Amino acid sequence: MYLGIDVGGMSVKCGLVSDDGKILAKKSIVTTLGDYRKTIAEIADLCRETVSAGGATMDDIVGVGTGIPGTVHEGVVSFAANLNWYKVPYVAELEKLLGKPCYAGNDANCALLGEWVFGAAKGTKNVMAITIGTGIGTAFIVDGKMLLGNGSAGTEGGHVRIKERGNRCGCGRLDCWEIYASTSSLLERTKELAAKEPDGITARILAENGLSGHCIFNAEDQGDESAKKVLDEYIDDICVGLINYVNVFRPEKIIVGGGISARERVIAPLEGKINAEAYGGSNNPHVSVSTPVFFNDAGIIGAACLAIK
Ligand code: BGC
Repeated sequence: MYLGIDVGGMSVKCGLVSDDGKILAKKSIVTTLGDYRKTIAEIADLCRETVSAGGATMDDIVGVGTGIPGTVHEGVVSFAANLNWYKVPYVAELEKLLGKPCYAGNDANCALLGEWVFGAAKGTKNVMAITIGTGIGTAFIVDGKMLLGNGSAGTEGGHVRIKERGNRCGCGRLDCWEIYASTSSLLERTKELAAKEPDGITARILAENGLSGHCIFNAEDQGDESAKKVLDEYIDDICVGLINYVNVFRPEKIIVGGGISARERVIAPLEGKINAEAYGGSNNPHVSVSTPVFFNDAGIIGAACLAIK
C-alpha cells in the first residue's frame, strides 16, 4: 500500500492507495501556512491517521508520494507561491518523520500522472491536464513523455499573461492566466457583481448563503442575466489559455479538473470553442475535453503513483 498526498493552499488531502490505484481511506486537514516544518509535521500526522483509518499500519506502507502546488526538483520545493515556500527540503523532512521512502512532484503533474496510469488519459501520447482551484495547474504529456523543463520548473502554464489589466499574481507577475481562470477569480467576480448590483439576484444569494463557488451558478439558474454574462466571460478566459496551449502542443485530449469541473455549465462549451478557434480549425486533429475519472482524487492517486513508479 502507498500514501498519496495532495497539498493545496487551503487543504491537504491524504489517501491510502492500493497497488492498483484504489483509494482505501482518505483524510484531510486545513493547510497551515507559516513555518514549513510545522506544516510538514502536520502532514506526517495526517499520514498516520489515514493509515489507521484504512485499518492498516505504517509497516504496510511501501512509499509516500506528494503533489505540491509549485516547483519540486529532486525532493526540494524550489518555489510554491501559494504556500509561501522557497527551497523547502520537503522530501528529506517527511522521510525523517515517517521513516519511509518519500517522493514529491508538482500537483498538476501528479493529477495528470494518476489519470495517465489509471484513468482518463490511459493510452494517450499527447495529453494536457489543467487543475482549476486556488491557482491554475497545467501538465503536459507530449509524444509519450511528461514535460518537466530545466530544474522541473517548466509547465507553469497558469502563469502566462493573457490580459493587460494590471492585476498582480501571487507569483509576482502581472495578469497571469490563473488570475482570470482560477476558482478564486470566479469568487472575485461574484463579489464584484454583488457590489455592482446590490439589489440583484447574485447579491441576494450571496447575502443569504455566504460567498461560495455555487452563488453565481445559482444566480444564473434563477434568471440573473448579469450572472450569465460573468460566467460566459469566465469560461472564455479559461478557453483563451487552453487554446494557446493547444496551438503549441496539440494534445489529443485535455483533462479539466478541480472542483469546478463538476459543473457541466463550465465543461460543456469548452470542446466546441477550442476546436473552432485552435490553429487549423477542423483541418487539424480534433481535441477532446473530458473531466478526470478520479475527479478531486486525481491528485492523491497521481501522488501515490510517484511512489508506485
Ligand atoms: C502553481 C502551480 C500549481 C497550481 C495549482 C499555481 O499557482 O504555480 O505550480 O500546479 O497553482 O495548484
